[in-house]
Amino acid sequence: TSEAGRDFIRDIVQADLEAGRHAQVVTRFPPEPNGYLHIGHAKSIALNFGIAQEFGGRCNLRFDDTNPTREEQEYIDSIQADVRWLGFDWGEHMFFASDYFDRLYDWAELLIKNGDAYVDDQSQDEIREARGTLMEPGRNSPFRDRSVEDNLDLFRRMKAGEFPNGARVLRAKIDMASGNINLRDPVLYRILHAHHPRTGDAWSIYPSYDYAHGQSDAIEGVTHSICTLEFEDHRPLYEWLLSKLPVPSQPKQYEFARLNITYTLLSKRVLTELVRGGHVAGWDDPRMPTMAGLKRRGVPPAAIREFVKRIGVAKANSVVDVGMLEFCIREELNRTSQRRMAVLRPLKVVIENYPEGQTEELDAINHPDDPSAGTRKIAFGRELYIEQDDFMENPPKKFFRLSPGNEVRLRYAYFIKCREVVKNDAGEIVELRCTYDPETRGGNAPDGRKVKATMHWLSAAQSVPAEIRVYNQLFANPAPSAANFTADLNPQSLEVLTCARIEPAVAAGVSAEPIQFERQGYFVRDKDSTADKPVFNRTIGLRDTFAK
Ligand code: ATP
Ligand code: MG
Ligand code: MG
Repeated sequence: TSEAGRDFIRDIVQADLEAGRHAQVVTRFPPEPNGYLHIGHAKSIALNFGIAQEFGGRCNLRFDDTNPTREEQEYIDSIQADVRWLGFDWGEHMFFASDYFDRLYDWAELLIKNGDAYVDDQSQDEIREARGTLMEPGRNSPFRDRSVEDNLDLFRRMKAGEFPNGARVLRAKIDMASGNINLRDPVLYRILHAHHPRTGDAWSIYPSYDYAHGQSDAIEGVTHSICTLEFEDHRPLYEWLLSKLPVPSQPKQYEFARLNITYTLLSKRVLTELVRGGHVAGWDDPRMPTMAGLKRRGVPPAAIREFVKRIGVAKANSVVDVGMLEFCIREELNRTSQRRMAVLRPLKVVIENYPEGQTEELDAINHPDDPSAGTRKIAFGRELYIEQDDFMENPPKKFFRLSPGNEVRLRYAYFIKCREVVKNDAGEIVELRCTYDPETRGGNAPDGRKVKATMHWLSAAQSVPAEIRVYNQLFANPAPSAANFTADLNPQSLEVLTCARIEPAVAAGVSAEPIQFERQGYFVRDKDSTADKPVFNRTIGLRDTFAK
C-alpha cells in the first residue's frame, strides 16, 4: 500500500533511487503527433512530469513520429501548446524519434549481421495469417533463413527506395511458436514512400513503434518508461531488443491503466473521425475531450490536474464517472470566478410604478467568498429582463419564483410583483407588467416581510445582446461505442442561445477569465466573439443535472 498521493510507480521510483540504481530519474511523455492531446494524455503527462518534479529528475517530451502518413506539424505544435497549458515544462528536453532514424537504422543492420533480423517478402496479410493465434503457434516465413548477405543487400535496397510500399519488411528473428504473439518475429521496418514532417523524403522505410520506442528511451537515458496497459505484452519484446543492441542505457518499462471516462471516448481515431466527419466544429470544439476543447470550453488546467490527482494511478482498467471531472471543474471555478449577471432566455418586465427615463445604480458583489474581489455597479430601470423560466402564469404549488400576484426579490435590487401578463397574437407571453416596492432597495423589506425567491435580471437599456452556447455531453450513452460512435451522439449536445443579454462590462472586456453568471453556471468568452456580438461558452452548470 502507498502513502496518500502515492502510487505503485512512484513507489518503484523511490525504491530505485534509494537503492542507488539511478543517479536521477528520467521519464518521458511520448505522444505520436497524429492528433490533438486529450484528457487521457493529461493523466500520462501529470504522471511523467509529476514524477520528474517530485524526485528531482527530468521528463522529456518525445514525439513518437515514426508513422508519417498520419502525422502533421499542426499536431506537433498543438501538443507543445497543450502540455504547457496544462502547466508542465520540458525545458531543453524536447526530442523526436525521427532524430534517431540513422542510429536505429544502423542498429537494424547490426541485428541482421548478428542473425537476429531478416527481410521478409510476404505480404502483410500472409504475415498476419502465418503469425497464428493464442491457440496455435505461428509458421516460419519461407524467407526466414535468408543469408546475412542477402538480408543486408535487400534491407539497403529497401532504404534506397527500390521497392514499392508493402513489398518487404524487416522482421526480428525471435520465435514463431512463442506464447507471446509479440515475439513471433515482429516487424521492425516497413517500406513507406511518404513525406515526413521533419525528415522530408529522406527515408523510404520507417521503424515500427516497438522497434523505435525502447531504443529511443535508451538513447535518451530514460530510467522509467511508463506506458499504458495494452503494452504489457510488448514488454518482453522491449527487453529483447535492448538486450540485443549496444544501447547506451537500460530503461525499464512499467504499465498503468489508461483513463476512461463515462459519456466520453478517448481515442485519437474516434476524435479524428469526429472532426473529419463534421460531427464537431474542430479539435477545439468545446464538446471534445481534447485539451484544446477543454480549454475553449473554459475548463481551468488546475481542475484537470486536480482530477488526475484524485483518480490516481492503478494497474487495473476502470471507468471514471464524468461527474468526478465536473466536480473538480466546479470546485476550481467556484473559487476563481467572479460573479456577473446574464439572462439566457430573456422575458421583458416593465416596472409600471418606476419613473420613465430614470435609472439608478446598485452595488453587486463580485465574489461572495472573496471580499478582495470588490463590488461593481449594475443599472436598474423601468424596463428589465428576467429569465423566461423564472415566470409561470399558472404555477404548480412549489413554484416560488415569479407568477401573477407573487412577490420575489431581484438580486441586489428590489422586491417586485407581477400585475399583468401581456401576450402576442399567438398566445405567447411577451411581457410582464410589474410593480416594485421602493422601500426594498438592496433587497430587504423594512417591515421584515420575506420572499421565497431571489432572481437574476438585467436592465433592458443597460445590458447588451450576446450569444451563449450551452454544451452538454457529446454522447448520450454513458458507455459510447467506439466502433459505432455516431449512433451514440447526443443530439442535444449544443444549444445556441442567440438572444441572451449580459452586463455591458462583460461584453466589452476581452478577458479569457472564467465567470459565473449567477444561477446559470460558469462561462468563458469564446474566440468567435466579435465587437458586435460577444459569444460565451457555458463551461458547466452550477449543479450536476444530467441523469446518472
Ligand atoms: P489513442 O489511443 O488515443 O490514439 P495513444 O496511446 O495512441 O492514444 P499516444 O500519442 O501514443 O496516443 O500517447 C502518448 C502517451 O499518452 C502514451 O504514453 C499513452 O500511453 C498515453 N495515453 C494515451 N491515452 C491515454 C489514456 N486514455 N490514459 C492514460 N494515458 C494515455
Ligand atoms: Mg501510441
Ligand atoms: Mg494511437
